[in-house]
Amino acid sequence: MKAIRACVSILALLAMGVTALPGQITAIRAGQLVDPASGTTARDQIILVENGKITAVGPAVPIPKDAAVVDLSKRTVLPGFFDTHTHLCLNLETQGGQGLPALIRSLLAATAIESTAYRSIEGVANALEMLQAGFTTVRDVGNAGNYADTALRRAIEKGLVPGPTFVNAGRIIGPYGGQFHGLPPERADIAIPEYLYADSPDEIVKAVRQNVAFGARVIKIAVDDQPYLYSVDDVKLFVKAAADAGVKVAAHCATDAGAKIAAEGGVASIEHAYQATTPTLELMKAKGVYLVGTDFTTQASHEMGMDEYHGYVVERLKRAYQVGTPIAFGTDVVFVMPGQTRGTLSIEFISSFVEAGATPKQILQALTVNAAKLMGMEKERGSIAPGFAADIVATPENPLQNIQTVRNVAFVMKGGKIYRND
Ligand SMILES: [Zn+2]
Repeated sequence: MKAIRACVSILALLAMGVTALPGQITAIRAGQLVDPASGTTARDQIILVENGKITAVGPAVPIPKDAAVVDLSKRTVLPGFFDTHTHLCLNLETQGGQGLPALIRSLLAATAIESTAYRSIEGVANALEMLQAGFTTVRDVGNAGNYADTALRRAIEKGLVPGPTFVNAGRIIGPYGGQFHGLPPERADIAIPEYLYADSPDEIVKAVRQNVAFGARVIKIAVDDQPYLYSVDDVKLFVKAAADAGVKVAAHCATDAGAKIAAEGGVASIEHAYQATTPTLELMKAKGVYLVGTDFTTQASHEMGMDEYHGYVVERLKRAYQVGTPIAFGTDVVFVMPGQTRGTLSIEFISSFVEAGATPKQILQALTVNAAKLMGMEKERGSIAPGFAADIVATPENPLQNIQTVRNVAFVMKGGKIYRND
């Protein structure tokens, strides 16, 4: 019984993160250290961590005598992963293979039935699951009730609950109706608070400001989910209003027409772009617009009721790599599966990249440095180097040799705190 209690309390401690005292130095012995940017491996490295940041990396770094030593000499160490398209404050009762209308009904049900308080608790649970799978940073792109995401971000930043560094979008901004089709006229406001409707230039500026005032750190717009699309000028206005507030714009685009408009309008990333043609992918490359493909696995496509999407995303991902479009990893997981966590379901999306012919180096870059650049964090996170946040994971094997090993993360440190050490 005592042993069980001890075990439970260690688990509880790890869930909250093992905190080093201020000034306490942690020394990590890395058997292999992978640098995703160069796609190279260094052997037998020492990483020193102090006050949440990496202070030294190298083969002959002296270990201070009072340092806490973490032995990862049998592991491969690499930067923590990013998921740049999450919805942590949303668990959908999807109906596997039932089609897009069923999915929209599920979202409508979540909107209508679940309180924002409950949605933020879902967010807390999902945030821990993401962290334990190796995701140390996420960009959460809306569908969080009435700003459950802002509450979650604040709680993570304060250290009240464990979770990845969390950049949230608040309410998704879309033209009238948001992403719901066929709303009953008596209940047109049922899509609120998931969406902010904005149609005219004044409404666009106001929606961005309102969102930022309520804690959004990125703006998410739905460009083409209604028969009436935003125009290039509309998108440019979103980008300007967001930039004035110090944030970037992510654009939901399912169609090629929508993706082309968003790219011309200069957004930071295009989400999904399932039907993007090669000229549109080339335009994205020319404009430096990231593809966040939410590249559904076969299983995820089925769960979301969109079986045919898996084929689309693999084929589109293949073309995007041929063109050289910048690519950041992003998943869009909102469904629940027994025996899986939000984190394990999300990291499985690397399978679609493998199917598209991406190399392990390209996949690791999408998971780390590329995502950091998209989020404007490339000087703070996504690499293991002095001055960077100590967001560090370790895998049983070297992912440059076997990329599937990223699905079995055995060690997670975020901001110098250890959240997992198997
Ligand atoms: Zn999404």
